[in-house]
Amino acid sequence: MATNTLSERIYNFSAGPAVLPLSVLQQAQAELLCLPGAGASILEISHRSPAFGEILASAESTLREILQIPANYRVLFLQGGSRLQFSMVPMNLLRDSGKTADYIVTGSWGSKAVDEAVKEGDVNLAWNGKSDNFNRLPTDDEVNLSDDSAYVYFTSNETIQGVQYRHEPATGGAPLICDASSDFLCRPLPVDQYGLIYACAQKNAGPAGVTVVIVREDLLEHSGDQLPGYLSYKEHDANGSMYNTPPTFGIYLVDLIAKWIRDEIGGLDKMAERNATKSGLLYDVIDQSEGFFTGHAETANRSWMNVTFTLPTPELEKKFVAQTKANGLDGLKGHRSVGGIRASIYNAQTPDAIHALRDFMVDFQKNN
Ligand SMILES: *Cc1c(COP(=O)(O)O)cnc(C)c1O
Repeated sequence: MATNTLSERIYNFSAGPAVLPLSVLQQAQAELLCLPGAGASILEISHRSPAFGEILASAESTLREILQIPANYRVLFLQGGSRLQFSMVPMNLLRDSGKTADYIVTGSWGSKAVDEAVKEGDVNLAWNGKSDNFNRLPTDDEVNLSDDSAYVYFTSNETIQGVQYRHEPATGGAPLICDASSDFLCRPLPVDQYGLIYACAQKNAGPAGVTVVIVREDLLEHSGDQLPGYLSYKEHDANGSMYNTPPTFGIYLVDLIAKWIRDEIGGLDKMAERNATKSGLLYDVIDQSEGFFTGHAETANRSWMNVTFTLPTPELEKKFVAQTKANGLDGLKGHRSVGGIRASIYNAQTPDAIHALRDFMVDFQKNN
């Protein structure tokens, strides 16, 4: 039977869970048996212990520092992934509001968010890019907001299609809600323009199992008292993310990653520069390939995080995936709903990996 004999780290282009910074993994490895000061593993200590209390406080304060989160916003660490946020957002902010929620749908994840929101109240599809196969974002003029909007919802980076916002959509004064799962911490963010931002950690900010929610404090008042406790933002906030046992290991890694961005990268401005440069290297190959590689997203809406493209035939795409794998580059097959190739190049993706993929693409075109 074939066994996997890989013992060295490959170039990992997985869409999520995804690559993490090597130095963070090394620190976690070094501390796994005994968290300094705790006398036990992070996996073994109480969430009420002083050692974990310090980690939780540090994760929040480091996120506040790098994102410059204003004081009137709360930071929550939840479970259930972004899928639970598809429900929690309308449960807390739409249910019984008598208003309509506006959804700007620019890809697969936004569509799934709508599927959950309609269970909670009136939803207006303010824009839907499905007819263009989600290859672009709308201009503000194309978005039809309702008059009395509970909130305006959008997905800052559509992970499957590879389209990414570079600015906040207009809301006409309604709170702006963002699914930032796959581009959280990829650049600075004007948090004060948002009502609520959420991100599952496993794309850009940590391991699966923890979801960061940043919410403006006045919105907490909308959480109805009849909501199940776990589904209420107000309840989580009142308990300082300790309503139940929080995902302690995930929070520990989010803290290490926020510190990696601050201390090793040099902050979110630097992170943004690095991401623009990295993605630019791959888009350049696509643009200079004279049609051999075709980008899925329109140029102005291209994602820094997920580079999506096709080759002239499905056979060549199969060959591309097989040969990349044989060359130590993995995770490049596009999502089954879109096909083609997707290179996920989140914050932790190293310039080395990008160079390896770029060189492979150039050679592959020459040889085919
Ligand atoms: C991955 C992803 C999700 C789903 O996250 P889960 O944690 O699996 O629920 C939602 N939205 C976006 C933009 C994603 O990239």
